[in-house]
Amino acid sequence: MMENTNEMKLVFDSRPVNEGLARVAVAAFCTQLNPTLEEVADIKTAVSEAVTNCIIHGYEGEIHKIEVSCRLRGRELFVDVSDQGRGIGDVVKAMEPMFTTKPEKDRSGMGFTFMEAFMDEISVESQIGKGTTVHMKKMIRR
Ligand code: ATP
Ligand code: MG
Repeated sequence: MMENTNEMKLVFDSRPVNEGLARVAVAAFCTQLNPTLEEVADIKTAVSEAVTNCIIHGYEGEIHKIEVSCRLRGRELFVDVSDQGRGIGDVVKAMEPMFTTKPEKDRSGMGFTFMEAFMDEISVESQIGKGTTVHMKKMIRR
């Protein structure tokens, strides 16, 4: 049986202006599954949070590359967001609601909590000094 799969990869500079590019690109990519407006909004929010984290925490404002890769398998969407920045020492702690290392920058520490709420699955791989990849998965239901 032939499975319905499709892939795309986007690499861009870690400039805040590109956060909008990333979330629109992922939203456009998944329209082939006819997602609901709510599903699209959820995916955009999750991508936006992950990319913002690369810009603010991974690279701390320096300009380097961020990679967003998307894969569809049947009705499942997989999105990976990666940076090669400073990495996260304690991923479990970082993912706790309201945990932030930048409270002075008006961060509320809710990014990972939103990603978890809006996607079906999320996991984080990170190494200090090497970078971070956030893996997310969502089933597009109809
Ligand atoms: P908010 O997202 O609400 O503005 P926040 O970014 O601090 O605040 P989270 O997105 O939940 O909150 O991230 C929690 C913490 O995890 C961050 O404060 C940061 O220390 C760390 N972190 C998240 N993403 C990365 C990354 N790509 N590289 C390095 N550290 C990260
Ligand atoms: Mg965040």
